Amino acid sequence: MVPFGLNMKCDVLTLFPDILSVYLNESILKRAQEKKLLQVRLVNIRDFTSDAHRTVDDAPFGGGAGMVFKPEPVYRAMDSLKEDGETRKVILLSPQGRPFNQKMAEAYSGETARLVFLCGRYEGIDERVRNLVDEEVSVGDYVLTGGELGALIIIDAVTRLIPGALGDERSIEEESFSWGLLDYPHYTRPREFRGMKVPEVLLSGNHREIETWRRKEALKKTLAVRPDLIDALELTELDKKLLSEIKEEYHGSH
Ligand code: SAM
Repeated sequence: MVPFGLNMKCDVLTLFPDILSVYLNESILKRAQEKKLLQVRLVNIRDFTSDAHRTVDDAPFGGGAGMVFKPEPVYRAMDSLKEDGETRKVILLSPQGRPFNQKMAEAYSGETARLVFLCGRYEGIDERVRNLVDEEVSVGDYVLTGGELGALIIIDAVTRLIPGALGDERSIEEESFSWGLLDYPHYTRPREFRGMKVPEVLLSGNHREIETWRRKEALKKTLAVRPDLIDALELTELDKKLLSEIKEEYHGSH
């Protein structure tokens, strides 16, 4: 089990705090803040401009398309955070960063430093801002308009790992990636819906059989969609048996 942090404190430096506040003020993230498990301060970088037009972007030196996020307001916004003297880790959201995954979420959940998320915009942020940054993190191999969705993705994934943030802690252990596999299928009432029945085993009350069925379904799904995860997994004897059953069933039906 990973060393979960007791809570998570973070700042998000952004030009669009409203984008974040909508998501932060609903559901699990809202409740985590109410329970003081999570603290998020939204810092509007535009408040740290010094001209009448509150300018945050400028044309790129050397020419080219688009505008560049100016360094001065970002540095001033970052300076304003230093006053409370806490240790902090600055994370720049960027498509050029290390791809975010569940392992990183677990590491951040054990982080004692305040996490500062810096959300870029425009063609990108002035290169000199990188001197402020401890880690550059990407949320996927595609280009977004800004870093706000990325910051929310990370805060959301990390918050789920804070003890007490979810209703039932077992959810964390059984979710996709936490146990090295994708999740197994879930069903609720009714038992039959539009001719589709809930698998018998789930109604049997036999916990051992249910556990084996779930493991097999998780292996089946992972093998079909993310075989790379299976390659990285330390297979138990049961896993090996279930995988050979899955392969036999596959060959039998093709
Ligand atoms: N020109 C930049 C490039 O190709 O690397 C992309 C700039 S993008 C339009 C504007 C901002 O969105 C970036 O500075 C970054 O903060 C954020 N962003 C875009 N894609 C992202 C991704 N995959 N992960 C995290 N942040 C991303």
